[in-house]
Amino acid sequence: MADFNVDAIVLRRSQYGETDNILTLYSRERGKFSAIAKGARKAISRLSGATELLTRSRFALAAARNLQIVRQAEVVDSYPELRHNLYRLATGLYAAELLSAFVTEEDVNPELFDLLASSLKMISVAKSVDRAARWFELNLLDQIGYLPVLDECTYCQISVNPLLAGITSLSASQGGVLCTRHAHPETSEDQSRLDPDALELLQRLSSVSNANDDYLSRVLDDNKQSDALAAIALRRYIRFRLDRDLKSIAFLDSVQEST
Ligand SMILES: [Zn+2]
Repeated sequence: MADFNVDAIVLRRSQYGETDNILTLYSRERGKFSAIAKGARKAISRLSGATELLTRSRFALAAARNLQIVRQAEVVDSYPELRHNLYRLATGLYAAELLSAFVTEEDVNPELFDLLASSLKMISVAKSVDRAARWFELNLLDQIGYLPVLDECTYCQISVNPLLAGITSLSASQGGVLCTRHAHPETSEDQSRLDPDALELLQRLSSVSNANDDYLSRVLDDNKQSDALAAIALRRYIRFRLDRDLKSIAFLDSVQEST
């Protein structure tokens, strides 16, 4: 068996047998794959920390036909702040599940790996966890070619400017926004209502591929209602793309934001 090394984030972890864990890893070098961490649940295991959920580690693995075997693992970043706040943790789990839902096994994409790593960092420390999550969603959609059209009406192609716009909407099935004339969020189940700030937030967050915490809080004045509209619109858009609900959303919704 050939050994190989990867920089990877633990997307999912489940118990196997008496002391083993099965991991779903998303790696920079080989995309998503499953691996077994033998004895990781023993009290004295040297693998336990580095194979924790939402931990970025350097892995040495032995190649096997179905399940790679973890030989060694060393923590690169455990995003400790994620583990001290339930809302941040729930958001991090959502980010991991969302990425996992959109990538297939061995779909290699180093930029997507870097996006997840920097997003987990931001989700763990950002003043606005929600804006970090929106930035991640938009940049993930962009990377995989599903970014909704946000700057012009998908029906009449007129440019949609938040400074001039009243109420617009995001249509999941049309794959983008509808102008004030063509938006009918009250009567169409497919459309999500956007006010000017919500539209601007989506446009700005999607246009920056290298955000930091400072950018997220400065990008637009605090406006809880607009942030909420942007969140709902993107969630419905993603739900339409995936054609299913993510398990982590129920957990996320059950946790009150306390940051
Ligand atoms: Zn239009």
